[in-house]
Amino acid sequence: MNPIHHKSIAIIGGGPGGLTLARLLQMNGANVKIYERDVNRQVRVQGATLDLHDDSGLKALRAAGLMDAFKANYRPGADQMKVLDKNATIYLDESFATNEENDFSRPEIDRGPLREILLDSLQPDTVVWDSQFLSLQPVS
Ligand SMILES: Cc1cc2nc3c(=O)[nH]c(=O)nc-3n(C[C@H](O)[C@H](O)[C@H](O)COP(=O)(O)OP(=O)(O)OC[C@H]3O[C@@H](n4cnc5c(N)ncnc54)[C@H](O)[C@@H]3O)c2cc1C
Repeated sequence: MNPIHHKSIAIIGGGPGGLTLARLLQMNGANVKIYERDVNRQVRVQGATLDLHDDSGLKALRAAGLMDAFKANYRPGADQMKVLDKNATIYLDESFATNEENDFSRPEIDRGPLREILLDSLQPDTVVWDSQFLSLQPVS
């Protein structure tokens, strides 16, 4: 028996960490609520791009079954970099040829689309917006 099946779990904060955790817990049968202080999902710009690494962010998205949505929203080529001086002397070259099997190394995705992907993957009404966590008290 899955030990978290039907367990009720509260997560404070709907950032990439909380949303991904909620998705993975729901996939394993838990009842999850996320308490997020933002008033709603549109209230603020989410900020700049994130690069995701194979053994952390990408690993989590793979486990969450969200790689197709990720590939539809990431920024192809944004993980490639060259550093040159004014004479075009190359000091660092992290460019690489892409193909279907290896189309990125540390792919970049903007926080806004990433948040949308994760929110859309959750069961309806998982996020309780406009809820700022203040304190925690034990209940008997
Ligand atoms: C400049 C910068 C660049 C970065 N670049 C990268 C990168 O390229 N790649 C990468 O992997 N990581 C990067 N990071 C790190 C990345 O932003 C964090 O690892 C990630 O945002 C952590 O996610 P999180 O969900 O734990 O927290 P957060 O993203 O901080 O989300 C926390 C959420 O909790 C909510 N919240 C906070 N307090 C409360 C409360 N009391 N009650 C209710 N809700 C609350 C907030 O509104 C927010 O939605 C970068 C960070 C910075 C600052």
